[in-house]
Amino acid sequence: MLTSHSAPARHSTSVLPPSVCASATLPSLMPSSLPRLILSLLLALTILVAGVACERPSPSAAASTPNTTTKQLNVVATIAMIGDVAANIGGPRVNVTNLMGEGVDPHLYKASPGDVRILADADVILYSGLHLEGRLADLLTRLAAKQTVLQVTASIDEALLRQPPEFAGHFDPHVWFDVSLWSKTCASIRDVLIEKDPAGKDLYTANTLAYTSRLANLHAYATTTLATIPASSRVMVTAHDAFGYFGRAYNLTVLGVQGISTDSEASLQDINKLVDTLVSNKVPAVFIESSVPRKTIDALIEGSASRGHKLIIGGELYSDAMGAKGTPEGTYVGMVIHNVNIVTKSLGGTVPPTLPPPLQ
Ligand code: ZN
Repeated sequence: MLTSHSAPARHSTSVLPPSVCASATLPSLMPSSLPRLILSLLLALTILVAGVACERPSPSAAASTPNTTTKQLNVVATIAMIGDVAANIGGPRVNVTNLMGEGVDPHLYKASPGDVRILADADVILYSGLHLEGRLADLLTRLAAKQTVLQVTASIDEALLRQPPEFAGHFDPHVWFDVSLWSKTCASIRDVLIEKDPAGKDLYTANTLAYTSRLANLHAYATTTLATIPASSRVMVTAHDAFGYFGRAYNLTVLGVQGISTDSEASLQDINKLVDTLVSNKVPAVFIESSVPRKTIDALIEGSASRGHKLIIGGELYSDAMGAKGTPEGTYVGMVIHNVNIVTKSLGGTVPPTLPPPLQ
């Protein structure tokens, strides 16, 4: 899981049309009088053609074949949390490609030549902003001069954004951890899709209503579930400060080993200071993150052990990337439910045995 520096996987959230192996039916059309050798040659050729025809279509091929009348909008998102919102709002009218897949750290992500081509072909480019994609900033600025590029957090009232004192002048970019705040990005994504594809207005509007309602249910689930954690255990320690909005929204004290970005290593001094806090408050568990190397958390566990305090790993949280495509955690809603349940259980709260019906 800890693959933050490896080559990024790209997740296309469009449903690719099933491959049609039309040529597999060709042998039945062959005249029975042909010599056996010719038949064999034809059969071999047929299999070759079928193999080519059955290859998975490329994203661009998929984009051109949703149906015979409408070309899908080609939407490219930096992080999968944005791509998931776009796919829910856009439905079959959009083909969404995420630059960063499972376990990829957006703070450190650099565009490959392939990414530049994908971005250049996009009808709409969506990014989070607030310095999250720090190393893509110049590229996104250049693209914005000639393409539709939307910073999805730009529509959120700045008064609602966190401005941690240690990052004077900068906002905390991890907005998706407060579900009610992330839900506010839906309207701007809906509007940019309508602008590029006015014929889809009714669909985009209806899907936005349905998805924001789902997110309202998700926010309520997070609130009530996390509220079961006893007051004395409401301290959450993670590898980097991704969870500030989570703590603010759901009433937990959040301490991170690294700062807002993973771009800098935690110093020994930072780690020792945090060990002091953990030992003196008897904090039972710390959390690892899918997109951050584990060594910083291991340093906390060792530091606490050397002072007689047993600290356990509460579980792996999804911080700056979602889970694998095709798993529940490969969606924004599933990722949040996973985190809420892991944090609640690890800190002594109670997770309901089943999800409320709107989230099932
Ligand atoms: Zn982060």
